[in-house]
Amino acid sequence: MAIIIDGKAIAAKIRGEIAVEVNRLEAMGIKPGLAVILVGDNPASKVYVSMKEKACSDVGIYSDEHKLPAETGEAALLALIDTLNRNPGIHGILVQLPLPKHINETLIMEAISPNKDVDGFNPYNVGRLVTGKPLFQPCTPHGIMIMLKESGIDLSGREVVVVGRSNIVGKPVAFMCLQQNATVTLCHSKTRNLAEKVKSADVLIAAVGKPEMIKGEWIKEGAVVIDVGVNRTADNKLVGDVEFAAASRRASHITPVPGGVGPMTITMLLYNTLQSAKRSSQTH
Ligand code: NAP
Repeated sequence: MAIIIDGKAIAAKIRGEIAVEVNRLEAMGIKPGLAVILVGDNPASKVYVSMKEKACSDVGIYSDEHKLPAETGEAALLALIDTLNRNPGIHGILVQLPLPKHINETLIMEAISPNKDVDGFNPYNVGRLVTGKPLFQPCTPHGIMIMLKESGIDLSGREVVVVGRSNIVGKPVAFMCLQQNATVTLCHSKTRNLAEKVKSADVLIAAVGKPEMIKGEWIKEGAVVIDVGVNRTADNKLVGDVEFAAASRRASHITPVPGGVGPMTITMLLYNTLQSAKRSSQTH
């Protein structure tokens, strides 16, 4: 049976280390601050935002909340981002996605200063990541890399197969693995013969959003399986993109859903905010 990679435990350890560092910075007169902007009342977004606020307060990071009505205009949102970009007490700015349809998401993401872009979605930070000189790394893929490291998994020379090519998970994690000297295959909905690709993986990273679409029998004996998917089944259970029970009989290591990648994402947001505050303390 595979070793379970316990994302909750790894996240708790890192959050403990972050809390210590936040304390140390505060003693130097710097309180790390994260601005969180929520436009509208998407129920899932509201839950994510409140989880982020709680996580900030647990480690001592100041959380500056901006809950704006759904009809907020693009100009007003840009003006708020501009104010936050210039506020020295704010080290990270996060705009919760998705935004209402009348707001151009790309324009908003590009307006966040690259030096406060703790989600790592600004094209400047994407470019830094691709060229192997990251400033802020996007949280979910960064969390995955930390989980692999903490589990003692070396990617050098290994076959990594990523399923899913989103800008927030699939693409950045593929580049991060490449940077760690893996040979990377990036699959998507038009990939032919996905099963064969998955069977070649020493390390599989699944980020699709389809319940248990990756079959246990596709997993190579001894492979490492990272399941990013979070899917709710008809009977209201949370499952990943990989058939967990069957895959764990073949894999050497596997992440559960829930309790795997999920807890790492907000942890890396806290980490990025702390790093940003540290950088600003060095420049002032
Ligand atoms: P997304 O933007 O919807 O992208 C899904 C990707 O899967 C796309 O690239 C799509 O291909 C590909 N795909 C769809 N059907 C496929 C198929 N049959 N075979 C192969 N590839 C297929 O999703 P996302 O935002 O990356 O999220 C993926 C999953 O991870 C979701 O369940 C989400 O909830 C979860 N997630 C979890 C966390 C966390 O913190 N735990 C964070 C982010 C996301 P095309 O590009 O060709 O359409």
